[in-house]
Amino acid sequence: MPSPSSTTSRNSSTLAIVGGGLAGLAAGCALAEAGYRVTLFERRPYLGGRASSYQHPGTGEVVDNCQHVLLGCCTNLLDFYKRAGVENKIRWYDKLTFLEPGGRASELSPSPLPAPLHTAPAFLRVQCLNLKDKLGISRAMAALAPSTPADTGETFLTWLKRHGQTEQAIERFWKTILVSALNEDLDQISVPYAAQVVRESFLKSSRAGLMGIPTVPLTELYSTGGDYIRKRGGEIQLRSSIDSFTPDSSGVTLTSNDTEHRFDYLIMAVPFDVLGRILPASSSDQLRNELKQFSTSPITGIHLWFDRQISDLDHAVLLDRTIQWMFHKSRLLESRRDENSQNGSYVEFVVSCSRSLVEKSKQEIVEIVTREAQEFFPQARGAKLLKSTVIKEVHATYSPRPGIDQSRPHPETQWQRVFLAGDWTATGWPATMEGAVRSGYLAAEALTRAGGNSTKFLVPDLPPNGLMKLFK
Ligand SMILES: Cc1cc2nc3c(=O)[nH]c(=O)nc-3n(C[C@H](O)[C@H](O)[C@H](O)COP(=O)(O)OP(=O)(O)OC[C@H]3O[C@@H](n4cnc5c(N)ncnc54)[C@H](O)[C@@H]3O)c2cc1C
Repeated sequence: MPSPSSTTSRNSSTLAIVGGGLAGLAAGCALAEAGYRVTLFERRPYLGGRASSYQHPGTGEVVDNCQHVLLGCCTNLLDFYKRAGVENKIRWYDKLTFLEPGGRASELSPSPLPAPLHTAPAFLRVQCLNLKDKLGISRAMAALAPSTPADTGETFLTWLKRHGQTEQAIERFWKTILVSALNEDLDQISVPYAAQVVRESFLKSSRAGLMGIPTVPLTELYSTGGDYIRKRGGEIQLRSSIDSFTPDSSGVTLTSNDTEHRFDYLIMAVPFDVLGRILPASSSDQLRNELKQFSTSPITGIHLWFDRQISDLDHAVLLDRTIQWMFHKSRLLESRRDENSQNGSYVEFVVSCSRSLVEKSKQEIVEIVTREAQEFFPQARGAKLLKSTVIKEVHATYSPRPGIDQSRPHPETQWQRVFLAGDWTATGWPATMEGAVRSGYLAAEALTRAGGNSTKFLVPDLPPNGLMKLFK
């Protein structure tokens, strides 16, 4: 444990970060680099938070809590990867394959046309949508291209209906893209959140819409953030749960298991419900009320190991069934690529906004998923399921409902030396790895401002391309 603080110069101040998810790690890396003496407390035995992997006791396999993907527009997450030296652990794809039950495939990939027309040729060719669906989708895209609409309280489903979308376009295009990106049903999603996803993934530039998939387990990817902090004189305290914090004018006292730790500054990078439970008595009603406005939505990952390959695809979007995405882990993970031919295959299916699965047993879920998998992948019909596991993240991400942005707090708090980070804070981004890293960098910037040595950590967005340069 660090000794009680004694500040000698501005940027050698002591700093506690509570939470070893991406928000805490991003803030810790930025401020360790800036000279702060960082101690990061994480209650689990590993780093990564909601983006982590661990040895699963039932299967003996290292599994991610769920497949995580990023986009080319995630500039801050990519900056974090560069800091941690893991940018080469991401494989990039410019093609999405949409599969219908029965196996018919439609592909969406960019052409050399200028944005926002770059995906138009492939979009016009896709077979899973008819001409009426495509005309409606194109009209809606044209309405979203010039700017992100304001939050008027309308849900995106109402907006889609107001913009003449067919039932099939809603089910097969909008729902498929947005429920997985925002982890919420269309009738709960606010218009600006949906517009942001569509603009970044499909309209702004082909680079912004690239999809990145880690080639190593998530904790391997993110524990490098801990190494970065240690190399700059910081400490990572795993299995250390903070029970309370007490700010005063010269610093902050944290307690963990009845032991007190004193620091000059504190960044709380924990989920909103944890913060609500450990706020000091002096906390404002405003913050308490803001925290009460958040609700969450679940994601379920179903991991199946087969005795053979069931697909030649690395990943696919699955239409019209419970399962929404297939990730062919034994092709995606560096460590498993050589195993394929001899040792069968490892596939993860993901169901976002999976409220219908939360009450179901593991066995029921595996039965549904293997049955549906056989509809998409004929080779699965003769395959033997060797082992399986189901990981339910019941409170995976906060719901991006209309109005929620008003309750997302900024990093500064009523206490001069305490700052907030986390994917749920005011970043302008939904609950994503990029949102979490942005929140960490924003908290780090706010802390340096308070310390009188204002430093910029946030990196700029990708510039728009082609005709999108004409718009905001
Ligand atoms: C199933 C699932 C799938 C997802 N898929 C994607 C995806 O494909 N792409 C994407 O961009 N995002 C995805 N996300 C979202 C992404 O994982 C999160 O937005 C991001 O990881 C949140 O990071 P965070 O640091 O804000 O919070 P967290 O990761 O929750 O970090 C908070 C940390 O604080 C620790 N903690 C809590 N209480 C204490 C305490 N008292 N003392 C010490 N430590 C404490 C926790 O253990 C945790 O490690 C997904 C999330 C889930 C759950």
